[in-house]
Amino acid sequence: MRRFNIAIDGPAGAGKSTIARLVANQLGFIYVDTGAMYRAVTWKVLQEGLLIEQIKEITEVAQGMDISLMPGANGQLVFVDGQDVTSDIRSSEVTNFVSYIASIGEVRKLLVEKQKQMAAEKGIVMDGRDIGTHVLPDAEMKIFLTASVTKRAERRFAELQVERPELTLAELEQDIARRDHIDENREISPLVRAEDAILLDSTSMTIAQVVEQILDLCRSRVLGGIS
Ligand code: C5P
Repeated sequence: MRRFNIAIDGPAGAGKSTIARLVANQLGFIYVDTGAMYRAVTWKVLQEGLLIEQIKEITEVAQGMDISLMPGANGQLVFVDGQDVTSDIRSSEVTNFVSYIASIGEVRKLLVEKQKQMAAEKGIVMDGRDIGTHVLPDAEMKIFLTASVTKRAERRFAELQVERPELTLAELEQDIARRDHIDENREISPLVRAEDAILLDSTSMTIAQVVEQILDLCRSRVLGGIS
């Protein structure tokens, strides 16, 4: 099958990672979770005890660290300088800081460059906030995946009930709305739908339905040659 790139963007909790991973599996493509890369930098910055105002030091940390993403049995594994940080980067501390770190221009420049290199050979499904607009503006398929804030918070709540039983639905809804606000209003590469991205609202759809719809779009618009 012809190899091509798929960009999936959208707000926090829209199901991008799960859906991107399933689409990649179906097509035999490689899945890249760019949010995990911003989380990895944030984790390292917190380890170093830096404050969000220390832009120069944060940039140096980002430049000096090695981030690698590898496929694992239950999703993508994330390593920082050889250390497995897959679960550490999902902590609430990292989640609270990540949007601030992701608004630093030099950090974005560095990660965007890595992401472009990862996708150079094609056959990539990449999810994030600026993939269709900045990282892969030439991606053959662009999806902007969204859902209502309430629905997104409900899904996160269901996902986290075992791992983080102390979190309430209201807290998750607030966290999602806060991150959306920062991501949509930052100066550099804000979260915005690319003009040529197809809007999918998953509020009333199951994961399987969204995956099938994306695969259908790939068949008709990319593989079928109608673009
Ligand atoms: O996808 P996830 O929610 O794990 O992303 C964490 C944060 O990383 C987002 O809230 C956003 O601030 C940032 N991010 C970004 N650009 C991307 C991917 C993620 O700014 N391409």
